[in-house]
Amino acid sequence: MSDNGFEAVIGLEIHVQLGTATKLFCGDRSQFGSAPNTNVCPVCLGLPGALPVTNAAAVELAVKAALGLHCTVHLTSVFARKQYFYPDLPKGYQISQYDRPLATDGWLELVDAAASRRRIRVRRIHIEEDAGKLIHDRLPRRTAIDLNRAGVPLVEIVTEPDLANPAEARAVLVRLKRLLQYLQVSDCDMEKGSLRVDANISLRPRGARTLGTKTEIKNLNSFSNVERALTSEAERQADLLARGGAVTQETLLWDARAGSARVMRSKEESHDYRYFPDPDLPPLVLTAQMVDRVRRDLPELPEARERRFRTEYEIPGYDADVLTADRDVADYFEAVARDCGDPKAASNWVMTEVLAWANEQGAPVSAFPVPPPRLAQLIELIADGTLSNRLARQVLTRMMTTAEPPRAIVEAAGLASVGDPDQLEAWVAEVVDAHPEEAARFREGEAKLLSFFMGRIMKASSGKAEPRQTAELLRSRLLADH
Ligand code: ADP
Ligand code: MG
Repeated sequence: MSDNGFEAVIGLEIHVQLGTATKLFCGDRSQFGSAPNTNVCPVCLGLPGALPVTNAAAVELAVKAALGLHCTVHLTSVFARKQYFYPDLPKGYQISQYDRPLATDGWLELVDAAASRRRIRVRRIHIEEDAGKLIHDRLPRRTAIDLNRAGVPLVEIVTEPDLANPAEARAVLVRLKRLLQYLQVSDCDMEKGSLRVDANISLRPRGARTLGTKTEIKNLNSFSNVERALTSEAERQADLLARGGAVTQETLLWDARAGSARVMRSKEESHDYRYFPDPDLPPLVLTAQMVDRVRRDLPELPEARERRFRTEYEIPGYDADVLTADRDVADYFEAVARDCGDPKAASNWVMTEVLAWANEQGAPVSAFPVPPPRLAQLIELIADGTLSNRLARQVLTRMMTTAEPPRAIVEAAGLASVGDPDQLEAWVAEVVDAHPEEAARFREGEAKLLSFFMGRIMKASSGKAEPRQTAELLRSRLLADH
């Protein structure tokens, strides 16, 4: 952004639901989509005398997230009460962590379009419970409350103000989501509320060292809304500053439909919450052995995997990026690449046919009906000349509805490429004779017309003309004396 000589400074606070079966301090299910107010008990309803007990599975997932973000995990952290009044918070306070969070000082790697790498610092990660949900569109002129979400385990991930523009904020979120999905910490589904973002932004004169006054934008329900909201807020602040005004520190609510933000409240300070250590909970004490075990069991992280795909399989950076965006896509590709021995071909098939299927079906690639070894066999049939790409696509379509190996399908349906020179010669002659003008232009040097002829021949042969021999025959016929 170059608005009036100002530059933007952005920091994100990201709430991520930990993928446990039960809540953070009680045994209620934390699953999304149950009938309202069915997953509740005295603990998460905040009834007097009920005592919280910390969910070890949630702590383990939080540690995983912290290690994946290269943070220092503190063996002792403290749960604190954050007090405020709101109808979705039956206890009158939220159990969170304050001055002694689980983890601090990590980073997330960003790769820009020019493939240069930059570390975005993570200031802290703490564990906290979610609040309930107010539902404004269920009952006419009334607000309903669903407390199923109260007490669901979250981590809050806070970045340093290291981001320079709205697109970078979006890129951080894409990377973070990918990481947390790889780690199986969370499904990060924004529609279900498992990932929520508050975006902080200030402006300062370009090149200045000190930070300007920031605003915080809430209610951002998609990554594109994060980007749009930050862009619009940067413009608002730039106009204000350019006119000699000052930014007021406040919390804004993004209205996606209006494409603008409105003030929700002037900024509260942390002392307003009267944080103090929760007397019902002992400090959270981890053993070094536990942290080491979680560290040892971390899967290969996406950046490392992306890098390895480029070097080990020698596929382009673009392919590696697309293929590692989801862990199950990467797993699928890798199985095919290893089996067929032609990683670039494996990449092409996964990025086109397999991902197209997943997008159309809205299903994960792990549900693709053709298992990797079968796709690898199909790729081998192309490599050995049995199938053209076009025939192979037809075979793949059939493979999706049967467990038959591709070779059996090819034989049963007579789909194999035709390599018989007489037949190929006949197709070539038919097509060349039908297009004398193009043939003349080819002879005059328009080399790209070769693919025009190949296309016609494939059509004439229903995709069966074996491509290599056909191309040779075609070239010699075109160049033959007339
Ligand atoms: P607060 O006390 O208002 O919550 P914090 O210092 O805790 O502020 O920071 C919250 C988030 O806001 C962090 O992600 C941080 O990087 C970001 N942030 C802090 N100051 C600024 C600023 N001046 N401009 C932009 N972002 C900021
Ligand atoms: Mg804060």
